[in-house]
Amino acid sequence: MLPIQMVDVQRQYKMLKTDIDRRVLACMESGAFINGPDVKNFEASLSFYLDNTNVIGCANGTDALQIALMALNLQTGDEVIVPSFTFIASVEVIALLGLKPIVVDVDPRTFLMKIEDIEASLSPRTKAIIPVHLFGQCVNMKALMKLAHTRELFVIEDNAQSIGAKCTSLNDERLFAGTIGDIGCTSFYPSKNLGCYGDGGAIFARKESVAKTIRTIANHGMERRYYHDLIGVNSRLDSIQAAVLSVKLPYLDRWNQQRVKAANKYDAELGNLDGIMIPQRVPWSDHVFHQYTIRVQDGRRDALQSYLAENKIPSMVYYPVPMHEQKAFNNVVRKRVLLKNTDLVSKEVLSLPMHPDLEDDQIQYIGEHVGKFLKG
Ligand SMILES: *Cc1c(COP(=O)(O)O)cnc(C)c1O
Repeated sequence: MLPIQMVDVQRQYKMLKTDIDRRVLACMESGAFINGPDVKNFEASLSFYLDNTNVIGCANGTDALQIALMALNLQTGDEVIVPSFTFIASVEVIALLGLKPIVVDVDPRTFLMKIEDIEASLSPRTKAIIPVHLFGQCVNMKALMKLAHTRELFVIEDNAQSIGAKCTSLNDERLFAGTIGDIGCTSFYPSKNLGCYGDGGAIFARKESVAKTIRTIANHGMERRYYHDLIGVNSRLDSIQAAVLSVKLPYLDRWNQQRVKAANKYDAELGNLDGIMIPQRVPWSDHVFHQYTIRVQDGRRDALQSYLAENKIPSMVYYPVPMHEQKAFNNVVRKRVLLKNTDLVSKEVLSLPMHPDLEDDQIQYIGEHVGKFLKG
């Protein structure tokens, strides 16, 4: 059996080395390092993949969220609803722009924000919702978009973990995650389902006018060189990263299917064990398993993690501290609903190794050790 890795970023490079090296070297020869043809080509390919949604590359997924919020023209103190159980970026950008993050709870079986909580958290100052499609599966976008339309709220999808998943929309169509709300944001951080070799991100917008504003903001608020119409930022996808992503994009669906296959094997190995809960899959969305995250009950999570580590099985806690407990957000984050599931799952979650090249014998080995620990 090969050594087990939490993520494997080398294997894809080995498989695609000839193509990636050629594209990266050609980019370096060309000298077009910023906004060159590689960026345009990748944006066009990703746009085509996403059924012709506008795509704007940017420097990383956090910037994508910040630029998306900037494009909505909100006022200081306006409220944005977001789950407390997420990666910091989803909430950080709200605070950074002087807006108020209103955090909500998650469903303890899916780790996704709940529509009832959003309804219970609305106020006259609520302007936007950021659903986070955590671990590779989408929030109930049909219900969320219905609420957003009724209340005239903007929806920015944090799609950093679920690129390539499809989800049921308001009209019962299956649409790509990130293309259902007003704006979608993704990250190409190396360990994401579509990762580059450094930092990278992208913003999706169905409406041409929104896409135009986003493009302007991401480039110093300028359309015509040195004429600045908006206060913007400098956030661009590097040409070299775009070259890498252009080679990798055609494999995204296959890699996502391999993740699902690994998850099915995990389900079979772990589904009947007492003391843990396997991740629940929802009917309205695909799951592209950015993470395979179990819950370990009876306060035994950290002990299981140590036991696995002793047996050369890596695992990670995504995420140990919810946003409403973060020191940085003292007095910034508000809540109008109880966050009891968030508090519970933060203490119980454990993400097991997950990447497209995980082998059956590795998953079996992991399953056997989880089983041994639970019985011991
Ligand atoms: C990775 C991630 C981000 C941020 O992406 P970066 O490219 O690292 O800035 C935002 N939200 C979620 C849920 C993420 O997993």
